[in-house]
Amino acid sequence: MAAEIRTFPCLNDNFGHLIHDADTLATASIDAPEAGPIVAALEREGWTLTDILITHHHGDHVGGVAELKQKYGCRVVAPHDKTTKIANADLRVANGDVVKVGGLLARVLETPGHTLDHVSYVFDGEKALFAADTLFSIGCGRVFEGTYPMMWDSLLKLRALPDDFRLYCGHEYTASNVKFALTVEPDNAALQARADEVSRLRAANKPTIPSLLGEEKKANVFLRADDAVVAQKLHMQGASAEEVFRELRERKNKS
Ligand SMILES: [Zn+2]
Repeated sequence: MAAEIRTFPCLNDNFGHLIHDADTLATASIDAPEAGPIVAALEREGWTLTDILITHHHGDHVGGVAELKQKYGCRVVAPHDKTTKIANADLRVANGDVVKVGGLLARVLETPGHTLDHVSYVFDGEKALFAADTLFSIGCGRVFEGTYPMMWDSLLKLRALPDDFRLYCGHEYTASNVKFALTVEPDNAALQARADEVSRLRAANKPTIPSLLGEEKKANVFLRADDAVVAQKLHMQGASAEEVFRELRERKNKS
């Protein structure tokens, strides 16, 4: 039986994600912004939480961990501490590790930049990428702890995944990202199509994710900092991908 994934809002603009293995009844929460909506989603489905897979130490990703661990006695998987310690971790993971959620396998990719400890979880069998605050739909995370070249390298790791993988990110920032991306590439047809779709989804109060990675590769300007078309739009012909990426991210910070 295929895995089931549920995505729902938490806090102001975070996403909660549950992935459930119908064969073993294992259920993992990807991050835990707050306990309430995660418990509600579990109860709606009749699922029991067995694992929490933490992507990075920020409070809006770990705020619900202690309460959920207390309630379910679940295992907490977290990246190795790089800057801020993540409490309640039972298992520490690093690049290339594989975490089992019942019969499902999550491959760990270190994707630093937003924070130094940031990891993404790739469920190859389910074609699902949980990228938290590294890659957003039509955007990417702010570079807080790492460097721009480090973040660009992390985005390249995610871009290398197949086109038919679905992106589940950490925040509902898509509308804001689309607005910014259109200032850089007003004539990108894939971006225009995504803009229409996002308008429809938001008007219906529906989440804009998951999105298809193949579509992100065409429409997300932050995944295309090595594309000559993007460099030209920024009047940066001949600049390195890292320089173009920095310019994009700094413009977005100011937008
Ligand atoms: Zn964060």
